[in-house]
Amino acid sequence: MYNKVFDIRNDEYQKLSTELIKNFDLIGLEKLSVKNMIKNKRLSHSISQISWSRLVDMIKYKAEWYDKKCIQISKVFPSSKLCNKCGYKKEDLTLAIREWTCPKCRTKHDRDINASINILNEAIRINNECTTG
Ligand SMILES: [Zn+2]
Repeated sequence: MYNKVFDIRNDEYQKLSTELIKNFDLIGLEKLSVKNMIKNKRLSHSISQISWSRLVDMIKYKAEWYDKKCIQISKVFPSSKLCNKCGYKKEDLTLAIREWTCPKCRTKHDRDINASINILNEAIRINNECTTG
């Protein structure tokens, strides 16, 4: 049973990582602290279900195969706390808050989508730094 679950999951990761690599030239990933996420009840279920690092490894080696870029963003980068529109940093954002409105520019944010945009922008910034010297 365990092997069957492993095989199905492995197959899903293979498909997902291949799809990402084929469709995107630059992939930004957050270096997640899995330990901290497991401490959080809301996140622990999905994290224990997914072996995040296995998926990240697949994306990394496939990026090399297909000459694509995979950039991992530092754990200290405040991806969830920054407003992707104006750069305001919401210091009091807790894990329980899934949506918030920027007090500076009034943009409404979905926590995960906002974080994704910030991670992508940071990956592009790092990539530009690397390519322009
Ligand atoms: Zn804002």
